[in-house]
Order: sequence, then structure tokens, then C-alpha cells
Amino acid sequence: MKLIRFGIIGKEQIGVELADGSRIDVSKFGGDYDELFFATDGIQRLEDWIGRNQKYCATISDDVRLGPPIARPSKIVCVGLNYAKHAAESGMAVPKEPVLFFKATSSIIGPNDTVMLPKNSEKSDWEVELAVVMSKKTSYVSEADAMDYVAGYMVHNDLSERAFQLEREGQWVKGKSCDTFAPLGPFLVTKDEIADPHKLDLWLKVNGEILQHSNTSDFIFDIPHVISYISQFMTLLPGDIISTGTPFGVGLGFKPPKYLKAGDVMELGIDGLGVARQEVIEFQHPS
Ligand code: ZN
Repeated sequence: MKLIRFGIIGKEQIGVELADGSRIDVSKFGGDYDELFFATDGIQRLEDWIGRNQKYCATISDDVRLGPPIARPSKIVCVGLNYAKHAAESGMAVPKEPVLFFKATSSIIGPNDTVMLPKNSEKSDWEVELAVVMSKKTSYVSEADAMDYVAGYMVHNDLSERAFQLEREGQWVKGKSCDTFAPLGPFLVTKDEIADPHKLDLWLKVNGEILQHSNTSDFIFDIPHVISYISQFMTLLPGDIISTGTPFGVGLGFKPPKYLKAGDVMELGIDGLGVARQEVIEFQHPS
């Protein structure tokens, strides 16, 4: 199943994209795609509900805005430097164990929303990534059991202000958490639809030029390893996002580097997980 959320920002309703590409409004199912939904076997309950009620569900027109596919989760945990060629272009060694950092959940936006450069941005950059969504609460899970706790997968653009991330004191979180820096979607694809999440092509274009193109088979640390590893340090809750790292081809790695400016258009996609498109705009003070 492909879960979508649609409508105006902050008031999204829930929907499903069907196999033929059409989209239906399932808001009568009730609730949102949030912690409670995943914790109470929501994917299975929704599938059963659609089986009985699809004929009563309105179709969503193609021009309606898509929101992020899930409601704001408790956390976004990101893995840094999880592709060897990306570590090299960043001038960093391949890590001996996963590098983890947080991204503020307030940075989440829909897949085709505009990305706003932060105030005093100098080096805003793109990162196409496979994002994993958790289905159940877990801590200290083994690698062998880790995939039992996955709900599904989404496309994530882990936008990064490199000057804030790398040239200031302290942790990467400052360059990762700006408003609009986590476009998600177009949809959450449930785990059953992805035969092998370690064999997915992923790519990103800026202004039509392909700059990132790799495959999740190039992960240094695979998904079960990453989930098990994170769960040694914190409890993962239903709906939590784990972003699995970006491949070679970010702006930082070019000589000279390429960074985002207003008017640029990013397009990105992953096999089976759809395509997203974001236009970049100048900073505006929040209203
Ligand atoms: Zn990243």
C-alpha cells in the first residue's frame, strides 16, 4: 500500500495511492498516520477497511497538494557517511560504526513543497536518502529481528546547510534542522511492496542535471544493522524515521562546490518509492 497525506499545510487528510496511480481519500477511516496508527496495526486495519469501503471513498484530484506521508514523528534519526564514496567526497574516513545525528521534526514538509534557504545561508546542499519508518516500539533489538519493526519506506531529501553543519562549533544538527529541510514522500510504501530495500536505485537532479545516482546496495551499514545499532542507544517509537545516509554527488563534493540558490529545482526519486520535486526560495521571516 502507498500512504499519502493531502490538503493544506498543517491540516492534511489521509489518503492512499492505488496500484493504478489513482488516489483516494480515506479520511473516514479516522485519525492520522501517526504513532497511534502504526502502534495499533494501522496498516493492516486500513487495508481491511479499504476492502470494505473503497466504493465510498472520494477520488483525490491530481492537483491537490501532497503533505508529508506521515504525521510529525517523535524523531528523525539520520545516519551520516553510510556510502563510501560520499565519505570520501566529504573528506572524511569511512566510519567504524554508524555515525548518528538528529534532525528536528519541525523541518518536515511535503514532497513538492518549496525549500526555503535559511537566514544567512551560504552553503545549502541536497542529499537524496532512503528513509525507513518504524512500525513498533523497540529497544535493544537484534539485527535478526530488526526488520519486523519496519512499517515502510519513503524518499527523503536530507537538506543540509554545510556552513552551519561543519564550520560552527558542536554537532551537525544545526545544519540539518532548518525549516523545510526534510521533504518526505510522495508516499510511504509499505514494507511488503519492496522486495529488497538493499537493491534500490536512488538519484537526484538539480535543474535537470543528474548529480547523485547510486544504489542502496552500496550501504556501508545495512538497514537491520542500523536499526539494531540505534536501538542500543534510544527507544524507537512507531512512526519514527531513520534516514539511511546519502550517496556520492552532493554539492559539497564538487570542485568548486555547488550550492543551492533561489530558483533552483531539485528532483529526486528511489525505485518503487516515487519522485519528488522541490523549488528553492529565498529566506522569508516566518509569519
Ligand atoms: Zn544525510
